Amino acid sequence: MAAGKVLAGQGPEELKELMAEFGEPSYRAAQLIKWIYRPVAAIGEMSNLPIGLRERLVQETVYHPCSRVTVRRSQDGTRKYLLELQDGELIESVYIPEADRSTVCISSQVGCKMGCTFCATGSMGFVRHLTAGEIVDQVLQVILDVGSRPSNVVYMGMGEPLENYGPLLRSIEILNAAWGLNIGIRQITVSTCGLVPGIRRLGKEGLGLTLAVSLHAADDEKRSRIMPVARVYSLDELLDALHEYAARTKRRITIEYALMAGFNDSREDARQLTELLRGLLCHVNLIPVNPIPGGLHHKPRDNQIVRFENWLRRGGLEVKERGADIEAACGQLRGRWEEI
Ligand code: SF4
Repeated sequence: MAAGKVLAGQGPEELKELMAEFGEPSYRAAQLIKWIYRPVAAIGEMSNLPIGLRERLVQETVYHPCSRVTVRRSQDGTRKYLLELQDGELIESVYIPEADRSTVCISSQVGCKMGCTFCATGSMGFVRHLTAGEIVDQVLQVILDVGSRPSNVVYMGMGEPLENYGPLLRSIEILNAAWGLNIGIRQITVSTCGLVPGIRRLGKEGLGLTLAVSLHAADDEKRSRIMPVARVYSLDELLDALHEYAARTKRRITIEYALMAGFNDSREDARQLTELLRGLLCHVNLIPVNPIPGGLHHKPRDNQIVRFENWLRRGGLEVKERGADIEAACGQLRGRWEEI
């Protein structure tokens, strides 16, 4: 590993190489990796490393590629982080504590090129992919702030994770590894807007993670009005890929459906959704849309949400209990923190 590399994001082998370059015994790599992923704020705090090695690491490497610019806290304990990367770009992460779990929502890109109309990130366009180290360091920053490791991680922040495939997989490996953050693979969720080749590729990896797909409409024409990706991959192609994914992984897929008043919340919408998902190993997560400023979409009334949920249940779909999940999808967490 060349000098100047970022420590967050490195694995045991790379750190062994680094220690060899530094002329240190190889057991230092095991000491160093524990500090990296049971994080401390700075290299100077890695107390069982010799002072000379710590000084050299400070001079020749970067530990954390993200730095906290602001942390906003809501009354329910949710915290929203604005993080600055080394090149000055900004990303957002969210921490959501609940009774039986705590979830960190992380970004995979600066901006996003998918252009979903209900999403503020979509309107800012694409800037760049994040590295695996930048993805993992978002979780480390939250741990440093709240003082404990989250039980769950969801890729639902800025960006389309399947567009940034290599760093996505590497970051999942680090989150899950015993030498990394040791977060259960089933507690990791990747949320996609429906990139068919990426879904097929992910299914072949043989990972047990949770796949969440932003569907939001069960009709190609309607979906393409809010999600440009629908003009590239039809619902038929998407559903084929989802059936294949479920067959390979035996994991239930989460279908995210953001309810938008007068757009996708009618009885006919419920019927189409029920037909589309029939036979798929999945459950539906209904999310009243979180409107963006100046956006076209609004939340339905509560009684309409309940009605829609009942139509789906009667049609035989499994619908997640409200509050059984973090009620979010890619592009939908913003509403949580705009109230903060
Ligand atoms: S909802 Fe997700 S995929 Fe769509 S524009 Fe926003 S960040 Fe990108």
